[in-house]
Amino acid sequence: MIPIKSAKEVEKMRQACRTASEVLDRVSETIRPGVSTKEIDEVAADLMEEAGVKSAFLGYRLGHRVFPGNICISLNDEVVHGIGSQRRIQYGDIVKLDIGVIQEGWVGDTATTVAVGVVDDRVEQLLRVTESALDRAISVAREGTRLGDICAEIEDEAVRNHFSVVREFVGHGVGRRLHEEPQIPNYGKRGSGPKLKAGMTLAIEPMINMGTAAVRLLDDGWTVRTTDGMPSAHFEHTVLITKDEPEILTWRAKTQLR
Ligand code: MG
Repeated sequence: MIPIKSAKEVEKMRQACRTASEVLDRVSETIRPGVSTKEIDEVAADLMEEAGVKSAFLGYRLGHRVFPGNICISLNDEVVHGIGSQRRIQYGDIVKLDIGVIQEGWVGDTATTVAVGVVDDRVEQLLRVTESALDRAISVAREGTRLGDICAEIEDEAVRNHFSVVREFVGHGVGRRLHEEPQIPNYGKRGSGPKLKAGMTLAIEPMINMGTAAVRLLDDGWTVRTTDGMPSAHFEHTVLITKDEPEILTWRAKTQLR
């Protein structure tokens, strides 16, 4: 069952998502060469405390593993779920920031990829394509659309630019819990899957690789990296399905467009 949020619940989601995007905005601003990813994680923790919200990722359990970071920070060939460490940001890196907050029992989830200074043209293109894949997915998300239509938009945008789509990790419904039904793969068939309904809140999150789609898990039990060492990009919005245009609950006016 895909949860449908009432008007009152949607208002709670709006709040949580607004906070998540504000935190993401401010954390993005702290990224510069020389700063450690641990310091970035600590800034995020301070901002969440200041806002009176909790991290949706800190303490997240997967089997016997417990996520130790406040946010996910993944560099270059790391795809998702990177953990803040003593490693320092370098000029030319791409930094994926994924932020989930819990505000009054409701979760907002959003991610972006930040280029540190000038990056290779093909890397710049990877970022642009991943963001436009998200944009294309959102643009078809409305009542009556099939879930597979969203997934196909993402895959299409990646493939037509000769990039590949990560298959092991997916977008998801979000609300009272970080991960609700449905799973939203970044690939799929148009016309397949359940029909979307107004009141669904979905975290759509393309993860697109420059080289092979294959990924592997690092020894820390969390960080996911491309097997060929080539870069990966990630953008995510929490979106409210309506009868018309979807509402992007985690929209950020300031740093949305490069
Ligand atoms: Mg997510």
